[in-house]
Amino acid sequence: SPISPATQMDEARAALRRIFGFDSFRGVQEQVVARVLGGQSTLAVMPTGAGKSLTYQLPAALLDGTCVVISPLIALMHDQLRSARANGIAAAALTSADADWRETADAFCNGALDLLYVAPERASQPGFRDLLNRGRVALFAVDEAHCVSEWGHDFRPDYRLLRPLMDGFPGAARLALTATADAHTRADILEQLGIPAEGMVVAGFDRPNIRYAIRHRQSVPAQLAQLMEEEPGPGIIYAPTRRKVEELAAQLERATGREVRPYHAGLPAEERAENQAAFVASEDMVMVATIAFGMGIDKPDVRFVAHAGIPKSIEAYYQETGRAGRDGDPALAVMFWGAGDFVAARQRVAEVEEARQQGERKRLDALAALVETPQCRRALLLRHFGEEPPQSCGNCDNCLDPPAMIDATELARKLLSAVYRTGQSFGFGHVQKVLTGVSDERVTARGHDRLSVFGIVGADEAPLLQPLVRTLQARGTLVATEHGGLALGGDARAILKGEMPVAIARTAERAARKGRRASP
Ligand code: ADP
Ligand code: ZN
Repeated sequence: SPISPATQMDEARAALRRIFGFDSFRGVQEQVVARVLGGQSTLAVMPTGAGKSLTYQLPAALLDGTCVVISPLIALMHDQLRSARANGIAAAALTSADADWRETADAFCNGALDLLYVAPERASQPGFRDLLNRGRVALFAVDEAHCVSEWGHDFRPDYRLLRPLMDGFPGAARLALTATADAHTRADILEQLGIPAEGMVVAGFDRPNIRYAIRHRQSVPAQLAQLMEEEPGPGIIYAPTRRKVEELAAQLERATGREVRPYHAGLPAEERAENQAAFVASEDMVMVATIAFGMGIDKPDVRFVAHAGIPKSIEAYYQETGRAGRDGDPALAVMFWGAGDFVAARQRVAEVEEARQQGERKRLDALAALVETPQCRRALLLRHFGEEPPQSCGNCDNCLDPPAMIDATELARKLLSAVYRTGQSFGFGHVQKVLTGVSDERVTARGHDRLSVFGIVGADEAPLLQPLVRTLQARGTLVATEHGGLALGGDARAILKGEMPVAIARTAERAARKGRRASP
């Protein structure tokens, strides 16, 4: 007789406690588990740390038959395997690094496995389908599902062969999992894996217990030492190079007397493993690391994540800071940046292959907007991930201690109207020329020297245009076109009509007037 969904979820909650030791589901976990137990195919979009693995491991333990997990990284598979087994879930993997294939195959055929992990290359071979036909598949879980899409950042052709495999087992539900944000990729995953559109469950990206702060770098060892004094719990400090990692680790240990260890790919494997294990076990250690550190590390009580320089992108920032406060208790994310970071990053962009430059530049612009915004950091982050958050969060530096502002409403109206009158397709450089009355060939060829906005910004205000553009980009008033031009968005119309004021941070204004290139 069919089990009622309510009974099924009661059982799921009991199993959550019994098997995993958790009191309640987190966020959308419950919704995903309910769908999976009900045999409905699902795409779960959940940020890193939201608890994706539980959404298939729990059903795997409850359902009759085996959950086949497709996962692209052997190292991650083995982490998962260890933690599943530690919870008493019968799990095995078929990878090149596993010697016990025979045993695993037998266990599967005998119905003794809850979870069977396999790499996509293996899953797409005929031999694997034959094996699956000799046992019972309850569920397919496709981890890192964005790999199936050419729109994703990590396309893997083998993922395309999963659909034909899964189609051969119509009784097994599909659960695709990803932390990827953009709409295009999501739609593609649904199509490529044969999951109905109503099967998509998206978790919010907000991490409300993380307090974001972004500060100018003065003396980074002193600033970090102060942070460590204020925050005695475990922390991660990301530094840009291996040399910086070692320098900082030594300096900070000396300055604070706290236990500080280095981690980077250049250290002997043994030392790395030892430092990592010590960090995971510790209640007060600080790890100074390159971005090589963090992937797959399960430490819920990290109290702060600091960046000693800018991260690669907003995505990287979100992921790296996301390692703080996974237990839900208050945690800090503090970035220390200098204008030089952006200068160096832009130089590196100029050296990459032409085709990638524009994308890289966009990534840097988005990061610059985050760093420079006088407004809520969280709101900007969440908008970046496609959400529509409130204007202020009350838990970031700018919300808690709003920077001093000066009015720039009139200048903003001039700027927006120049963007509008030039056709919303030119970059800042061109718009700036028009506004300040520079008639070069490009300007005259388009007749932009005959526009009413030509030359309406005087020398006194001209330096403010750059910080103003960044402010407007940060709040979504100006958006980038596909080709890097500026277009009107958000509240641009209200500003143009004089219904909405615009202000920029006094610090940005001062820096601009001094002619210093303090802006990224
Ligand atoms: P993801 O794969 O989404 O990055 P994980 O599956 O690794 O996330 O889970 C992140 C952390 O959250 C793990 O430490 C996990 O044990 C913990 N976790 C997952 N679900 C819950 C829950 N319902 N309650 C408490 N902790 C949870
Ligand atoms: Zn805020």
